[in-house]
Amino acid sequence: MQRQFWVETLGCPKNQVDSDKLVGTLLADGMTRALDPGEADVVVVNTCAFIEQARQESVDTILSFDDLRKNGSKLVVTGCLAERYGDELAESLPEIDQVAGFGVPVTLTKRPGSKFDLLELPRPPAQAPWAYVKVAEGCDRNCGFCAIPSFRGKQRSRSITSILDEIEQLAVREVVLVAQDLASFGRDQGQGERQIVELVQQAATKADWVRLLYLYPSDLTDPLIETILATGVPYFDLSLQHVSRPHLRRMRRWGDGELFLERIRHIRSAEPAATFRSNFIVGYPGETETDHDELLSFVAQARLDWCGFFPYSPEEGTYAMGLEGTVPAGLVAERMGELGQLQDRITSESRDALIGATIEVLVDRPGEARSFREAPEIDGIVNVPADLEVGEFASVTVVEATGPDVMAVRA
Ligand code: SF4
Repeated sequence: MQRQFWVETLGCPKNQVDSDKLVGTLLADGMTRALDPGEADVVVVNTCAFIEQARQESVDTILSFDDLRKNGSKLVVTGCLAERYGDELAESLPEIDQVAGFGVPVTLTKRPGSKFDLLELPRPPAQAPWAYVKVAEGCDRNCGFCAIPSFRGKQRSRSITSILDEIEQLAVREVVLVAQDLASFGRDQGQGERQIVELVQQAATKADWVRLLYLYPSDLTDPLIETILATGVPYFDLSLQHVSRPHLRRMRRWGDGELFLERIRHIRSAEPAATFRSNFIVGYPGETETDHDELLSFVAQARLDWCGFFPYSPEEGTYAMGLEGTVPAGLVAERMGELGQLQDRITSESRDALIGATIEVLVDRPGEARSFREAPEIDGIVNVPADLEVGEFASVTVVEATGPDVMAVRA
């Protein structure tokens, strides 16, 4: 009887890629995917530990899969929670059979001494017309609120050759390049700046669409902007986090609202249809009413298409843990509400503006597609006729918009 596995993934797209690679090793071990976790011989939970909320979700998921699994099966916990808390996690949750940090094989059959580098493991064929491709692990920055470098380590970029091989193996129409600090790709290999430009140019020869997530603003150079625009996917995911200069310095981050607006204007002058996404942290220690007003004004001026607002989460071992000026939870919620309301209106207006337009979309599944304006899983979608072929591009005309999503018919 072939042994079966179940892999449950939490957290970010980078974790999704790690899970895909774990699946590849289990398939290579001769195992098959279980249709139900209750049938699996090994249940893997690939966890997230970025913030408290994510850690709680990871623990809840581990316990729920412990309830679901069959007797005699193995419960393996991997990912950031495993890497960050290792033995402590094993002691606090005896339900877990194996805590496998990064680099520890997750197989039923031990292969002593086998090198297990998640970053370079092969991927099974993609299950959708698009796929995330993780081009580096770790991060060399030290943003005040972020613990990721403490457990994902220093940046380690892959070679362009191994990335292109993976893209060919995946055989998808769209690749979404991800890393903790994507625009710094290759810098750790001492091959000079801007390896990211060469990577994007070469990746664009292997897939119809190349999309980039997590761009640190100081690395949004003219050559990178030109290269992104040349891919035909003018989509800019800028990791801004805030816009007030003194507050960004407290976050140990570069830039300010004026610099960011200048970049956005520069891109829009080259491509008026360019699409922007960003994330902001609300309530980081020391955030004043003036800082908040500056962020509100930036959001109103920048008119980004998509924005995420996240309440500051105190993280052990981070610079921010030692800072004074805690913002009361009620005030954080109030500020989040103001920002969310403003942004929802802006997003709706940018979707309404598409009504009547004929756009090119990639059909992800029956009735559901995306244009270059929507990244998978995090932005809205384009509802299309259910008989449009999955995995193909189609030309459609937008007839209606509802919040983040639009409805379209054949052009
Ligand atoms: S760039 Fe900053 S926020 Fe992003 S992973 Fe690195 S340290 Fe964390």
